[in-house]
Amino acid sequence: MAKDYYAILGVSKNASTDEIKKAYRKLAHEFHPDKAGHDAKKKEHSEKKFKEINEAYQILSDPEKRKQFDQFGTTFEDARRNGAGFGGFGDFGFGQTGNVNIDFEDLEDLFSGAFGFGRARQGTRARGVAGRDIEVSLTINFREAVFGARKEISLYKTVTCANCKSTGADPKSKIITCSTCNGQGQIESVQNTIFGQFRSVRACSACGGQGSRAEKACGACAGTSVVKETVALKIDIPAGINDSEVIQLSGQGEAGRLGAKSGDLYIKVRVQADEKFERRKDDIWTKLKISFAEAALGTTKEIDTLDGTVRLTIPEGTQSGKVLRLTDKGVPHLKGRGRGDHYIEVVVVTPTRLSKRQRELLREMETG
Ligand SMILES: [Zn+2]
Ligand SMILES: [Zn+2]
Repeated sequence: MAKDYYAILGVSKNASTDEIKKAYRKLAHEFHPDKAGHDAKKKEHSEKKFKEINEAYQILSDPEKRKQFDQFGTTFEDARRNGAGFGGFGDFGFGQTGNVNIDFEDLEDLFSGAFGFGRARQGTRARGVAGRDIEVSLTINFREAVFGARKEISLYKTVTCANCKSTGADPKSKIITCSTCNGQGQIESVQNTIFGQFRSVRACSACGGQGSRAEKACGACAGTSVVKETVALKIDIPAGINDSEVIQLSGQGEAGRLGAKSGDLYIKVRVQADEKFERRKDDIWTKLKISFAEAALGTTKEIDTLDGTVRLTIPEGTQSGKVLRLTDKGVPHLKGRGRGDHYIEVVVVTPTRLSKRQRELLREMETG
């Protein structure tokens, strides 16, 4: 069914070009989809109306097309559209009905400053590019891993441009309707094939699907909304972290462009080995050398632990290779409470250089 373009614009069939223009401007302003806010239903309605208004204006503002419309109640474009064969080709929403060119010179002053750059960017028309993740490695010493630490790292990375607050637009710039998409935010392309016409709609890359853009790009970031900077970051290393474990910091990767999500920062922790302590999971292992006599007779020894020295009793008759345990003297568990244990492996050192007297005593012991 042919549309009544006069009714759409609310003008009479005898309306002058000026009257049509006036009516169009008033309606376009009223139904601009950007005015609908976040109400999806209202927005959809606005988009439909806005589209219709523009279509009507395009026909009625062109003397040739208007004449054709007056005569046939339709236009060649209508005819082509209706005869395209492939109807209902998915729901592309806004921009589906045809080749509408908005009079953007009119729109330019109409919408300048009112919409577009700088407004909230939630919702369906995401225009930015998400920031990438960053992976770095950070070497810490043994004790820092055991007890936790705060480290500062510096990263050369993409950050949000402070000058334009991630909009990419010069803060003082005028907002103009995007000329690439004529303010539609979408580009429709039509492909003629033997099966008919295929229409596809994609977001306009020039304005990121916004339909409007700043006349002047931000000078600090050349309109990209991001800049590269060396950033100092404080990293809290949790107590108990082990070598090769990864700390993830959400949103600390490369900044997203034009308000899109930032990447994450992954810090792979490298823990330097310690001369004294060997770590096995959350337990600490050390060796304790004792003499042959100490092993036989028993003794007490000062043991270095993560928390300082403790006295450990070696019972008499301890064999080489015997493992003694100091409970809760190991590494704090990264997840949950408590700590691992400290295991002490006893190594009995057999004497290699004996005096004559020592030999005699040992022989005596063997035979006694
Ligand atoms: Zn900027
Ligand atoms: Zn555009």
